[in-house]
Amino acid sequence: MAEDRPPIKDPVKRRVRQRCGFGCVICGSPLYTYEHMYDWAVTKSHAEEELTLLCNQHQQERTNKLLPREVVLQANKKPINVVTGVSEPYSFHFSGSECELVLGNNVFRSQGARLVPLLVGGEETLVFDFRRGNLLLSAQVRDRDGNVALLIEDNELLYATDSWDIEFVGRELTLRNAPRKLRFQASFEPPSRVVVSRLDLQYGDVHAFVDARGIHVRGPGQRTRDVSNVVMHGGFEYAIVLDSHMFKAGGMLL
Ligand SMILES: [Zn+2]
Repeated sequence: MAEDRPPIKDPVKRRVRQRCGFGCVICGSPLYTYEHMYDWAVTKSHAEEELTLLCNQHQQERTNKLLPREVVLQANKKPINVVTGVSEPYSFHFSGSECELVLGNNVFRSQGARLVPLLVGGEETLVFDFRRGNLLLSAQVRDRDGNVALLIEDNELLYATDSWDIEFVGRELTLRNAPRKLRFQASFEPPSRVVVSRLDLQYGDVHAFVDARGIHVRGPGQRTRDVSNVVMHGGFEYAIVLDSHMFKAGGMLL
C-alpha cells in the first residue's frame, strides 16, 4: 500500500529554491522538482538541508542510479546557478501567426505584426515579434536598482539568481523582491498567449504596475493614469505609450 507523504511546506520549498539558485543544482534548468538526497523511505522527513533541486532528466538519472548520490551532494553544495549567478536558458515553444498579451484585465492581440502592449519611457518590457515564420517572445524585468532580474530574448528565458525568490510552477512564473513583494507574475501559454497578472516597474519618478484591475501609472508628481478592461486587436505596434515619443498610429498615448 502506498504510504501518504505529507507535502513539503512552502517556506521550506522557498528556502531550498533560494539555496539552490532557483534551478537544478547540476544543470541550472528552471524546470525542476524537489528531490530528497537521502531515501525518503529511510529518513521519512522533509528536512530542508536534505532537499535539493533536480530537473526531470537529472531526477530520472538519479532514480535509475545513473547519477551517483555523491555527485548530487557535491552539486548541492555548489549549485551551478549560484556559481554563475544566472539560470540555464529555457526555450519557450511559441509559434503561429497570431499572438495575445494580457496585462491585468487588458487584452492586446495581433496577427502577424509586432506587438508591444506597453511602452514606458522608450523601454519595451514585453514584446511578441514575428520573424522568419517564428513567433518570438522577449521581455525584461528590472529590479529597483535597474539591473535586469529576468530576461526573455527571442523565446529564451533566463534570470539572475540574486532575486529574493523565483518560482516556476507549471506555466506560471513568479518573481518576488522580498516577502509579499511581487515584481512579476505571468502565465506562459504557448503557442501564442502570455497572461501577465502582476508587473512592477520603476522608471525614474514614474511607477507603472499591473494587477487584476488593470495597468496603473503613478507619477511624475501627482499624475495618475489607469487603463482597465481595454481590448485592442491589431493595427498598432505600441498599444499603450507612456512618457515616450515612439508613438505609432492605432495605440493609446497616455
Ligand atoms: Zn538538471
